[in-house]
Amino acid sequence: MWTARRLVRPIRALEQAALAIAAGDLNQQVPTESADELGALAAAFNHMAAQLRQTLEQQRQFVANASHELRTPLTNIKLRSELLLESGLDDPELAGRYLAEIDSEADRLGRLASTLLDLSRLESSQAVQHQPLTPIDVRPVLSAVVATMTLRARSAGLTLQVQLSPSLPPLRVWPEQIEAILLNLLDNAIKYTPAGGQIYLSAAAMPDRCQLRVADTGSGIPQADLPHIFDRFYRVDKARSRRSGQHGVGLGLSIVQALVLQNGGQISVTSAVGQGTTFTLEFPASAPLTADAANARCVSQA
Ligand code: ADP
Repeated sequence: MWTARRLVRPIRALEQAALAIAAGDLNQQVPTESADELGALAAAFNHMAAQLRQTLEQQRQFVANASHELRTPLTNIKLRSELLLESGLDDPELAGRYLAEIDSEADRLGRLASTLLDLSRLESSQAVQHQPLTPIDVRPVLSAVVATMTLRARSAGLTLQVQLSPSLPPLRVWPEQIEAILLNLLDNAIKYTPAGGQIYLSAAAMPDRCQLRVADTGSGIPQADLPHIFDRFYRVDKARSRRSGQHGVGLGLSIVQALVLQNGGQISVTSAVGQGTTFTLEFPASAPLTADAANARCVSQA
């Protein structure tokens, strides 16, 4: 009887805690003192409860941030429409200005809504591995990105330097998603680099993978912010990005990260304030590289 009770007690505690969690009390912890399988099960249970708390907190934060970001353009629209209704129509010039501002705020609202929708679609499809079956050559994708961004960089007073290895391994990736990833990273590089700076894009063949890099000589990101920059709605300097009219809402890098994972890759970042930032992406090669390809020299294209 005594042994049976001793065995059953921790199982009962687990059962009670599981029921309490199901009823909404997430602060449940069970004792983990025994060093046997039941102790391990209790530790795993506590870990699961902690993860659940963290996920819910992230979701709560996301909803709060999304509501805040959606409310800002809505408030701007409301303010202007009220002014128009009160007296704006008497002054055609003022009315024209308010209408143009309402139009641009409505566009911003639309962009934000579709970005949020993209992100939630991406995150829900991540549970299922979603890579294409047929590997592709990414060089045409890279060339298209270079063609789009060279002019953009030049008009911001920056030079875009490109280094593409002549032979890259075929990758099982979606070309339009790789394009979106690179456009986003290059767009940030241009946004956060003062005129006169340099932007770099490189692609190199590694023994079992392809490495893409986007680097800049821009403002850099403080070390304390680096772990958070892929978080949804995270901006290093909210006040500055609003003042400068760049209207970043801090979703770009969350989308980039979700897209990289969706394509079976990994992304990392290094940065030094005042010196610049480098984003490194790695995608597994879908077939082993030949010795020639692995040793291929990088050639400068721009
Ligand atoms: P945003 O829309 O604000 O640019 P992102 O998710 O793309 O949002 O980036 C998050 C934050 O990371 C930015 O607000 C910016 O502070 C910082 N950041 C991203 N890329 C760079 C870069 N190349 N150089 C400096 N800071 C960057």
